[in-house]
Amino acid sequence: MILTNCAACAAPLAHDAPGCARCLTRYLDRTCQMDHIRRGHEQICDEIRRGGGGEQYHAEKKYKEAVAVAVEKCAADTAGQTCYICLEDGSEEGLVRMCACRGAAGFAHISCLARQAEVAVERVGQGRGWGRWYTCGLCEQVYHGVVECALGWACWKTYLGRPETDDPRLDAMTQLGNGLLAVNRLEEALSVREAQLSMLRRLGVPEKEMLVSMGNLAITYSKLGRGGEALRVNRDVYFARVRLDGEENEMTMHAATNYAWTLQEIVSSICKTREPPSAPRLSVPCETREPRSAPRRDSV
Ligand SMILES: [Zn+2]
Ligand SMILES: [Zn+2]
Ligand SMILES: [Zn+2]
Ligand SMILES: [Zn+2]
Repeated sequence: MILTNCAACAAPLAHDAPGCARCLTRYLDRTCQMDHIRRGHEQICDEIRRGGGGEQYHAEKKYKEAVAVAVEKCAADTAGQTCYICLEDGSEEGLVRMCACRGAAGFAHISCLARQAEVAVERVGQGRGWGRWYTCGLCEQVYHGVVECALGWACWKTYLGRPETDDPRLDAMTQLGNGLLAVNRLEEALSVREAQLSMLRRLGVPEKEMLVSMGNLAITYSKLGRGGEALRVNRDVYFARVRLDGEENEMTMHAATNYAWTLQEIVSSICKTREPPSAPRLSVPCETREPRSAPRRDSV
């Protein structure tokens, strides 16, 4: 679940919070539910139920909004073009392109890109197929900005109905978090990262899988300017890696880079008011994009 707040009062919810029996909208308790009913829940209950329940309905709505934003942003570039997947034009669903494709290549409908990714995962398995959710099938470059965000919602709405322990569902949460970060929707990205981490804790997944999710949480904290929290998480990840993999392991090195990077960020922000830092800056932190089950790239 990424809807982790009460629909009536916005208080944080437990994973087993009570909800409307028909549309699955979730509440802190029965008092909140009664309050929501008084404020007109019945008028939207049926629509949400027909939309697959609270979580699915919310994801579909956010997906449509994200597609509209992506199409609008790409409009000047895509005018008069056709989708390379379905060969239709952009008159019904507008086209997008946000990768390294040039010339007449790479224009597509978000829904076609999403279907292509879903089919790739079905055909060749998650390890090899998952990359289609965030890389172009033509130029093999990572999608960015609004297209990454729309595909993040597409991915989440595709897999959210699966059991919580299902790998594609877990990785869809990562994908959605990455997409929200790509358009600087930082608070939303944070709530997805936190929801994912608390779910993994509850499911009791192996520690190494938790570390990947923690690393992503730290990057999100860092982008939000919450350096202290980013530092704390990156420190925990680093020492856990040393314990599990040893000091000379590649993943430990990445964790060390991220830990050092957040330290540097904090030092820089303190020095900003005094004098410019004289030491060379470290590169950006290593971000986790690949599914937890597949080998990962160094960084973005
Ligand atoms: Zn409430
Ligand atoms: Zn309802
Ligand atoms: Zn298409
Ligand atoms: Zn491309």
